[in-house]
Amino acid sequence: MLWTAAAYRATFDIARPIAAASPCACSYNQVRVTSVAVRTSEGTVVTLERNTVEDLRGHLRGALLLPGDPGYDDGRAIWNAMIDRRPALIARCLGVADVVTCVNFAREHGVTVSIKGGGHNISGLAVCDGGLMVDLSLMRGVWVDSTARTARAQAGCLLGDLDRETQLHGLAAVLGFLSTTGIAGLTLGGGFGYLTRRFGWSCDNVLSMDVVTADGRFVRASARENHDLFWGLRGGGGNFGVVTSFEYKLHPVGPEVMAGAMAWRAEDAHEVLEMYRTVTAQAPPELTCVAVLRNAPPAPWLPKEIHGKPIVAIFVCQTGPRAEGERQVAPIKRFGSPVGDIIQWRPYVSQQSLLDATQPKGRRYYWKSEYLPRHEPDMLAKVIEHAKRIPSPHSAILVFPIDGALNRLSAEHSPAGNRDAASVLNITASWERADDDKANIGWARAAWEDLRPFSTGGTYVNFLTEEEGSDRVHAAYGENYDRLVEIKTKWDSNNVFRMNKNIPPTAPDA
Ligand SMILES: Cc1cc2nc3c(=O)[nH]c(=O)nc-3n(C[C@H](O)[C@H](O)[C@H](O)COP(=O)(O)OP(=O)(O)OC[C@H]3O[C@@H](n4cnc5c(N)ncnc54)[C@H](O)[C@@H]3O)c2cc1C
Repeated sequence: MLWTAAAYRATFDIARPIAAASPCACSYNQVRVTSVAVRTSEGTVVTLERNTVEDLRGHLRGALLLPGDPGYDDGRAIWNAMIDRRPALIARCLGVADVVTCVNFAREHGVTVSIKGGGHNISGLAVCDGGLMVDLSLMRGVWVDSTARTARAQAGCLLGDLDRETQLHGLAAVLGFLSTTGIAGLTLGGGFGYLTRRFGWSCDNVLSMDVVTADGRFVRASARENHDLFWGLRGGGGNFGVVTSFEYKLHPVGPEVMAGAMAWRAEDAHEVLEMYRTVTAQAPPELTCVAVLRNAPPAPWLPKEIHGKPIVAIFVCQTGPRAEGERQVAPIKRFGSPVGDIIQWRPYVSQQSLLDATQPKGRRYYWKSEYLPRHEPDMLAKVIEHAKRIPSPHSAILVFPIDGALNRLSAEHSPAGNRDAASVLNITASWERADDDKANIGWARAAWEDLRPFSTGGTYVNFLTEEEGSDRVHAAYGENYDRLVEIKTKWDSNNVFRMNKNIPPTAPDA
């Protein structure tokens, strides 16, 4: 039988909630299972008998949720509301043993499997239709060794979890710009943020990862153990196994940094971006300045009369010597006639969540992204033109400088590669109603088409949307792609882990 939503509903038998003292392994309020239709990794549907599903439930420490169970809809809802998939089973894992159980179950029954860390990926591949979603979002432990300057974090952690624990010791891992993003997807695809210019990709700062492989083994990947797997995981995404924890190298940062944001009216955008170009060209690695063009959100630091009007903003973070902080941000602070300025000494964790409110869970999102080799005046002029046409109060065009440490390593150091990139351009459409999909997606695509000629030719795998296929995956990995195929073929020859920006293994007879 070919998979359709209707077929799934017809064969999935949901009975009334069962009583508290039921003899079966189901707990109160969970739906009674008679049989469950699941989608196989080949796209067909098979029926799992009740005993099979209850056996899985019985082997898990965490809950197994089925459609109709309390928490099921929360479990499948991710950041991007464009994604509306319905797994047949959601396993809310509480530890490595649960992950091993899930992987073995999926492999033995041929069930499609997806992996959810923070649930923040634009393409929404953390959620599968009709398969088993391995939900790691309850695994949020962090252990910091302040002497060794390392931290081990479980794969369900959000960036804010790790920052909070490491900052207790004046240390930080290289992470992204929003506290609500998951560490797992971010690190496995590369990862960049305010510390990237100093220390490279997030994945360049990973010392080891604990992994459940497609055959259900629990292994460590590091420079000393399973080195090929370690290489593949540092950018190759969720293709090779389920990572249950990451060990990060930490760096002294803060706890206070000279950071914040400033905004000017869009009428001044050409002059502001010219200043931005000059400042970023000379900025030491400890200073990162992100340019944002959008309509002003109703943020308390922006005057009411500017809300909803086009602005250009620069988000700044200086993480180097304290004595240098004020001097390094001075050219930005004294520029023109800003409409808002909150650049000041502030806790690093506050800077790490400054953009959170602009990206809430549950809106509709569509992105287009490219790596840039430099900030060309013509490119910045086009950014200004496309920002003028933004059809939504929430959309933005952002330029994130990443040049510095990552450029000093060779392209083959890790699959994240793209070590010729100076910046990441991200065109982020964000809106509320499905009726507005066409206008917003159309705006992002048009801006991207026009800006694409300024790209290095590479793109960030973590910013690819659902529709972007193998040509874009190739663009993300470039010369590292073939080695990724070899590693995939060794560690997951049956492509158990295919709900991702997939790197298909070589067929056995190829
Ligand atoms: C608002 C927003 C801001 C962002 N900011 C940044 C940023 O500043 N810097 C940056 O580099 N990126 C950023 N990103 C991109 C981000 O890195 C990716 O979206 C990333 O995939 C998010 O990780 P997650 O765990 O939350 O995602 P999920 O959606 O949970 O997972 C994404 C994919 O990763 C794989 N995966 C997840 N967990 C595991 C695991 N434990 N083992 C194996 N595979 C796994 C799966 O294939 C899954 O489909 C941002 C994204 C958003 C939406």
